Amino acid sequence: MKRIAIYPGSFDPPTNGHLDIIERASGLCDELIIGVLKNSTKTPLFSPDERVNMLKAVTRDIENVRVMSFEGLTVDFARQNGAKLIVRGLRALTDFDYELQLSQINKKLYGEAETIFLCTSLQYSYLSSSTVKEIASYGADISDMVPHYIKELVIKKIKETKVS
Ligand code: ADP
Repeated sequence: MKRIAIYPGSFDPPTNGHLDIIERASGLCDELIIGVLKNSTKTPLFSPDERVNMLKAVTRDIENVRVMSFEGLTVDFARQNGAKLIVRGLRALTDFDYELQLSQINKKLYGEAETIFLCTSLQYSYLSSSTVKEIASYGADISDMVPHYIKELVIKKIKETKVS
C-alpha cells in the first residue's frame, strides 16, 4: 500500500525551516501532500493560492511532493487523500504543548492516523514565518531564512501592503 503523508500548515510564507521538514519527510513516505490551510484565523500576508504556488515552485525538484490548499479539519483533509501520516515540525519546547494537544485531538478524530514529529535542524530552530515577515517589514535581510524566489515575493508583497 502506498504510504501517503500530509504536512499541513499556514506557510505564510514558506521558510527554509519548512523546506527542511519537507525534504526530510518526503524521504519517509511514498507521497507527501503539503496542505495549505485556508481558514486560518490569522490574517495572512499571502492568499492560499499564492502560498500553494510558492510551495510548488520551491519543491519542484522533489518528485513525490504535491501541494494543495484545504479548508476545515486536518483529519478530514488526510482522510480525503488516503493519508495516514500527519507530519509536523517541532522547533522548541514552546511548540510542544500545542503540538501534543493537536496530535491527541487528531488521534481522537481519526484513530488510524499517526502524527509524526520531525525536530527542526539546528540552524532553523529560531525560524518562523512571522519572524520572516517582521524582519522583512523593517527592511532587514531575510536571505538566510527563505529561498531567493520567496524572498523577492515577500519584499514585493510587503511594499504593496504598505502602499495600500
Ligand atoms: P501553523 O500555523 O500550522 O503552525 P506554520 O506554517 O507556522 O503553520 O508551520 C507548519 C508546521 O511547520 C508546524 O508543524 C511548525 O511547527 C513547522 N515549522 C515551522 N517552522 C519550522 C522550523 N523552522 N523548523 C521546523 N519546523 C517548523
